This record gives sequence, C-alpha cells and structure tokens, in this order.
Amino acid sequence: MPVRAVLFDVGDTLWHAAEPPSPAEFRRRAAERAAAFLAAHRIDGVDPAALARTCWDAMDDAIRAARAGDLVEPDYPAIAAEAARALGAPLSRQLAAAFLEAIYVSGAEGGKVAYPDARPTLEALRARGFRLGIVTNRAFGGERFRADLRQAGLDVDWDVIAVSVEVGYLKPHPRLFEAALETLQLAPQEAAMVGNSLAEDIAGAQRLGMPAAWKRSRPDGDGVVPDFIFDRVGELLDWSLLAEAARVR
Ligand SMILES: [Mg+2]
Repeated sequence: MPVRAVLFDVGDTLWHAAEPPSPAEFRRRAAERAAAFLAAHRIDGVDPAALARTCWDAMDDAIRAARAGDLVEPDYPAIAAEAARALGAPLSRQLAAAFLEAIYVSGAEGGKVAYPDARPTLEALRARGFRLGIVTNRAFGGERFRADLRQAGLDVDWDVIAVSVEVGYLKPHPRLFEAALETLQLAPQEAAMVGNSLAEDIAGAQRLGMPAAWKRSRPDGDGVVPDFIFDRVGELLDWSLLAEAARVR
C-alpha cells in the first residue's frame, strides 16, 4: 500500500525556539497581559503576576500528569478557574479560558522559527503528490495556532491539522493519529509520521501501523526503532519510502 500522506509533528520537527525569551521575560509579558485582562474585566484585589503564574503552573502540572497517565487532554479552563479561585479570583470557566488565551505567549513572539529547509521540503513533498498534515500536542489550538504557522512560513495549505486540545487526546494516544487519518480517509499504512519524539511520534504512529521517521533528538523512548532517521528536514526527501511512493502514484 503506497504512502499517500505525510503527517508532521511541529515542535522541534518543523519549528524550534531559536532565540526564545528568558523564562523571566515570559513571566513578565504574561503578568503584563494578566493586568490588562483583569482591568478590562474589572476584577481587582488579585495580583496579576501571581494569578498568571498560578494558572500557568496548574496547567503545566495537569499536562505532565496527563502525559504520564491516561493521555486525555486536561480541561485547562476548569483547572485554571480552580487555581484562580484558590487565589481569591472567582473566574468562570469561560473567563478562565479567555484569561489563559490572553496570557499565552506563542509563535514568533515566543521565539519560534521554522527550520530553513522545512517549507521547501513540504513543497517538494507536495510536488511529489503527497497530502500533508499536522499531528501535534498542544494546549492551545484554534485560529491562534494557524496564525502562528502562517507567521513561521509554515502555511502550506495543510490537508489536515489534528491538535490534541481540539481532539481531546495527546500523542501517543491512537485517537489523535486516527483523527488525522479519518479526515484524510486513509489507512494507517498509507500515511507516514514524522517527528522528533520517539515516545510520542514514532512509537505512537508505529503502534497503529504507520511508518515513522525520527528527527534525531534527545532519545525519550527505549526500544523504539524508527523506520527512518534524519537530522535536517530536507533529508526526508531521501527516505526510500517517500521516493518509491512518489513513483507509484
Ligand atoms: Mg516535537
């Protein structure tokens, strides 16, 4: 069965934090936005920096627990609302969602830059006739993520974008990969996964029967054997599976 689509992880596969702001700078920006948010919603008596930090830490803890546990994407607005309540700031779930969105420093602002050969490689795969998709773990999706992709030059008219927070499951849970395959109407063997995490991208995809290429990174999984290993994104074009599949289509 020839491969018809190539699905990509994003972080440290297509883009990376080249010169990210320091953690202190991230916190300063988040606190500034938190102050503006609280003022706009006429909420006082809460320290904006403390509220931003508390909500963010609660979210981080939930992500870590989910990744080590059932891989169900946590309900971040509910978690932030609870953390805010403990600080004496009664935010509704809806307001907590808006607050998280407001303090989130993302994309180019967060120092994210596409690898120089990412876009040319995506275009070359497209020219070979492959459909292209994204399968990504992230706590923020929606238009903001699409805009960050555009700003990074990674807007290649994706055939599918499967974001964990939108689907409800984190890689390596099969549901996130399946969501992408269902949209493309492809069997697992017809889609190759590309990513930098052995545990999330490679093992998760292979478990479903998808071939998987690993962008060499600090190994995070034991006993996982990728179908292809590369260092620069452009080397993907040399993967025999993608060359053969292009010939048979
Ligand atoms: Mg990654």
